[in-house]
Amino acid sequence: MDSIPVISEPLAERMARRRDSAYPALWDLLDQVKDPEIPVLSLWDLGVLQDIVVADQTVLVTITPTYSGCPALREMQQDIDSVLIAAGYAKVEIATQLAPAWSTEMISEKGRQQLLDYGIAPPVSRRGQPICCPRCASPKTQLISQFGSTACKALYCCEHCAEPFDYFKCL
Ligand SMILES: [Zn+2]
Repeated sequence: MDSIPVISEPLAERMARRRDSAYPALWDLLDQVKDPEIPVLSLWDLGVLQDIVVADQTVLVTITPTYSGCPALREMQQDIDSVLIAAGYAKVEIATQLAPAWSTEMISEKGRQQLLDYGIAPPVSRRGQPICCPRCASPKTQLISQFGSTACKALYCCEHCAEPFDYFKCL
């Protein structure tokens, strides 16, 4: 049952870009930028941060928004901008890349754990796998509403500990 987690191709490519980057300090710096809706989760662990390059003294950051029209996008861009400017990078450009589209498969293992610690059930991609309660880990949970605190989450209730919780919907 406990198989080695399969890393999706977009996640593996993104990890390789960071590993092989000529600007490791910039990647580390942008780990400070968190998802405005889930303040424990960095844009990197959420899978939004795609690439960082420097050309002509300009830092070019590429991000893929979680879904089009996400109200948090503007806030993410402003946060990236202010972190880089505060660190002394005067020129920052942020590009949004829409293909390949963001999917919940881009969330890192660390990000999934952070979601769980924050009380949000991480996305379940395997068919038939139960959505477990983030508080007591019981698989006996029930869908209450397709829309939780934000459009990308659904509201569930645990039948074991009776706590309601958000589930990060699988995209
Ligand atoms: Zn529970």
